[in-house]
Amino acid sequence: MSLELLILGSNSAAFAHRRHHTAQLFKLQEQHFLIDCGEGTQLLMKRYKVKLSRIDHIFISHLHGDHYFGLIGLLSTMHLFGRKKDLLLVCPPGLKEILQLQLRHSETSLNFRIQYVEFTPGESEIVHETPKYTVTTLPMDHRVPCSGYLFKEKPKKRRINRNKLPEVQLSSLDIVRLKEGEDILNEDESIKYENKLLTLDPNPSFSYAFFSDTRLRPELVDTIKGVDLLYHEATFANDMKDRAVQTFHTTAEQAAQFAKDAEVGKLVLGHFSARYKELDPILNEAKAIFPKAELAIEGTKFVVDGK
Ligand SMILES: [Zn+2]
Ligand SMILES: [Zn+2]
Repeated sequence: MSLELLILGSNSAAFAHRRHHTAQLFKLQEQHFLIDCGEGTQLLMKRYKVKLSRIDHIFISHLHGDHYFGLIGLLSTMHLFGRKKDLLLVCPPGLKEILQLQLRHSETSLNFRIQYVEFTPGESEIVHETPKYTVTTLPMDHRVPCSGYLFKEKPKKRRINRNKLPEVQLSSLDIVRLKEGEDILNEDESIKYENKLLTLDPNPSFSYAFFSDTRLRPELVDTIKGVDLLYHEATFANDMKDRAVQTFHTTAEQAAQFAKDAEVGKLVLGHFSARYKELDPILNEAKAIFPKAELAIEGTKFVVDGK
């Protein structure tokens, strides 16, 4: 099992230098999640061979156009392709109204159901959960209600040590109990097989934190402590620090310091301002503080599959 992040778009407000607006495809537990959907996302999905039908979950961070203007086009294409499956859409308040207005005036009735989950601005809450993972909102500090997302696998079960199996006789119920960490008992409650002799530690649980447009959020260091992968906006380099504060954004240096404080496995920087044709200044500035930093170059896939 692994975690995969494919960058589709990584620029801020304006298209520039062949860079597009924010969109990324995240994969965990065989599920594909689209995170933000800037204009042109469906074309980028085509370019990077991402099948529309695989997407059952979409997470939108906020209602600035560079993060959702591609959504109505994407939904319309899903409709045209005959989608029937439900789609989960986690989003800020207001998006449902916008989409319903667009659909109403084009007299379109989608042939699939959108299950809207509106997050509560300013609060951290679980917005999606399965037996295997949770998705929690991360309140951002931006000009409009905005949320990042923390994707986290739940602790996994212990693994049966197959090398030991020829030596013992186990029922299927025994195996379930062993995976839960229990010993196998005799009828008189004495221990028949000790758990640690027949099982191995669980596989690691992976986690990914997506930080959308925001001023620095030191308050969230503990919430995301030790995540395997952190995407953080780095709209500006440090020479534009004042501008970053004014516009509710972050510099690469700030993002790197945040990654270092949160002891993350890897930092991916994105949401670049159009003023930077070359991104080396952003990367170098971050690497000086947190060496495991990389740029969210479109088409790049980040994979975490071991610890
Ligand atoms: Zn933005
Ligand atoms: Zn924004």
